[in-house]
Amino acid sequence: MSSLLGLSFIGFARGQSTAAPYRAINPATATALEPDFFPATAAEADKACILAAQATPTLAALSGKKKAAFLRDIATRIEAATPSLVARATQETGLPEARCQGEIGRTMGQLRLFADLVEKGDWIDARIETANPDRKPLPKPDHRSLLRPIGPVAVFCASNFPFAYSVAGGDTASAFAAGCPVIVMGHHAHIGTAEIMGGLIVEAVKANQLPEGTFSLLMGEGRVIGQQVAKHPALRAIGFTGSRVGGRALMDTAAARPTPIPVYAEMSSVNPVVLLEGALASRGDAIATGLLGSCTLGVGQFCTQPGLIVLTRSDAAESFINKLSALFTDCADGVMLTAGIHQAYQKGLTARAAQAGVKVVAQGKSSGQPNRAVATLFATDAKTFVADASLQEEIFGPSSLVIWCADQREVDAVLGALHGNLTATIHGTDAELAQHAALIARLEAIAGRVVVNGFPTGVEVSHAIVHGGPYPSLSDGRTTSVGSNAIYRFTRLVCFQNYPDAALPTELQNLNPLGLSRLVNGSRSNSAL
Ligand code: NAP
Repeated sequence: MSSLLGLSFIGFARGQSTAAPYRAINPATATALEPDFFPATAAEADKACILAAQATPTLAALSGKKKAAFLRDIATRIEAATPSLVARATQETGLPEARCQGEIGRTMGQLRLFADLVEKGDWIDARIETANPDRKPLPKPDHRSLLRPIGPVAVFCASNFPFAYSVAGGDTASAFAAGCPVIVMGHHAHIGTAEIMGGLIVEAVKANQLPEGTFSLLMGEGRVIGQQVAKHPALRAIGFTGSRVGGRALMDTAAARPTPIPVYAEMSSVNPVVLLEGALASRGDAIATGLLGSCTLGVGQFCTQPGLIVLTRSDAAESFINKLSALFTDCADGVMLTAGIHQAYQKGLTARAAQAGVKVVAQGKSSGQPNRAVATLFATDAKTFVADASLQEEIFGPSSLVIWCADQREVDAVLGALHGNLTATIHGTDAELAQHAALIARLEAIAGRVVVNGFPTGVEVSHAIVHGGPYPSLSDGRTTSVGSNAIYRFTRLVCFQNYPDAALPTELQNLNPLGLSRLVNGSRSNSAL
């Protein structure tokens, strides 16, 4: 693709690196794609961080309207460039065209959601406690607080979402919305797509007359260049989506800095699905079809892929598993995103099949083509599962583990042993759901989103969505990486004491010129003071 240079964006300049190049690989054919991509040098990464630090005060002072215009401009440019983005991404990832089109739609939707949020302005959580000079024994000062941008954010792109969790994805959109400069670490799985997207953002930065350091995109290895950025004194936060090993490495780097910074890493989740007998008896076949679809969607390469299926022995459960096994056996293989992800999947299957107390109950068809994952269903019993924490490790791909429980006590033991997850799902009749309130409460304790009579894949981008959960699904289980609440990750609270009105941020001034909903002396108000 001749328009690609294979060079980083260091603010408005292109990288000049001549370091050993690498290429994107088409995983469907295992062939390298043109052109060469040149890893950013240490000096270029340093420059990107310094530019970001320089841009910080200007971005922090931007009005919600200006930030909204910038975010909408990026979305408009993505819309216009959709054909070239799709053409490159389908080659680099093996993902079908319709999936890429859909993901671009979602990416533009995210940018526009954040634009609407910051234009409205209430998200900033303005609070005012007016002074009381007559209070005894001490006068009460005037306190006004709001959320401020945290500063430069490094975003590590996800292999499995070339758009929605990559260069212009949710982390970048929420950091820009908060008023933070962003340094993106492109993922080698779709580095050409990253370059096209990076160019669109740079154009939007220029068109909106924002400072040069608002955005940089670095090519190269996350383990090298990404680590350097993570240690840079100018950096204030990290957004990451990928493996637990990678996320944990960044958490450790961030914690070991002279000035530690927060890492918002979305890492691994096995998304348990609990199936109650009545639901299986009344609609077992429909649940099996839905579950197969959820397990194998996108070749199982979703963070919400249901990797654990928990059920109690009964005739309905036996016939459900027979149906599910037949569906798995019929399943065609699918091309995975990278050779590395395919190798990790194969390794995971081999290790699990060799584990004592675990057996393969169904396996799909293999075409023998490169980098294809074969859907695989394993089964074990509750005692084996509870005794072996490795059975909770994510096998990233179209594989699930059935956990047979003898009774409700074993179901409770399985749920009690579970680590943090992005989602937990339960299927039951109305009567069962009413009867199992304690079980549903257990699911809430281990997951950021509890799904009733549905399937966990398909994450809505909205104001109410939570795409987070206790560790290890997220590094910080108090947050979400999808939806408008993701903006709060890149902010910090500041309180202004006894400020003259004119010196206060507009959002906190007496006249409430932006008409915000503010908490004034404990009560919500849109009025002037
Ligand atoms: P990854 O290996 O964690 O890499 C993600 C990004 O982080 C890449 O840019 C990578 O850079 C960087 N990185 C990795 N280790 C790092 C370290 N120690 N320090 C700094 N940066 C580091 O994930 P992946 O390549 O996307 O896929 C590999 C495996 O991750 C999959 O097989 C799967 O198990 C898991 N995964 C899980 C999810 C999920 O949603 N749960 C999503 C994607 C992947 P370089 O590789 O260029 O060094």
